[in-house]
Amino acid sequence: MKLGELADIPVEMGYRYIAVTDHSKGLGVARGLNEERIIEQRKAIAALNRKLRGIRLLAGVEINIRSDGSLDFGEEVMKGFDIVVASVHSGFKQSGAQITERIVKAMRNPYVSIIGHPSGRLIGERDAYEVDMEKVIETAAETGTAIEINAYPLRLDLTEPYIRRARAKGVSLAIGTDSHNRGQFGNMAFGVSLARRGWLEKKDVLNTRDLRALLATLSAKRRKKKS
Ligand SMILES: [Zn+2]
Repeated sequence: MKLGELADIPVEMGYRYIAVTDHSKGLGVARGLNEERIIEQRKAIAALNRKLRGIRLLAGVEINIRSDGSLDFGEEVMKGFDIVVASVHSGFKQSGAQITERIVKAMRNPYVSIIGHPSGRLIGERDAYEVDMEKVIETAAETGTAIEINAYPLRLDLTEPYIRRARAKGVSLAIGTDSHNRGQFGNMAFGVSLARRGWLEKKDVLNTRDLRALLATLSAKRRKKKS
């Protein structure tokens, strides 16, 4: 989708903002963006935001957590995003300890806002990877990182006991549709249903906050690291 078309989505869906999170370069199959292209995209988003009234596009990325737990971009590029989703897209056969360590390392990065599709399960296609979700939830609480409830019907991969557990630990959950085209934004309803099965209330969900509160939450994690 072009950015201009994306700007229609918040109006159609009744949202105040939407996060643009293209894949980073490591994900060749998804035509991930390199540094240069993502910086170009950020400029285009900023230009578009100057024209929009009452809605905002957030400049983000879905960054690849590499096999060794490092990320596709360095700090200089990372700090220019409004929001960063970090996810595992490779090395699914690693041991539980290795995969958990990769995700924990990503969460300790002050610029990582959300861990995307945290178990990696694709219904009918692929089991969850062996991740220690308790440890992920604990580290999320400690670092101020949110965890995604991925609303894509084949994912819905964070099961409700873990959603309840995350809530009990004070972790924010972000409901994301992982949309790759216009038709997928309606999947939000599935994510909301799953959140309810995990007993979440509005206050537990990162992206129910208004723009100001959302941005404050995201920058709080960045500041926490520095102090
Ligand atoms: Zn992903």
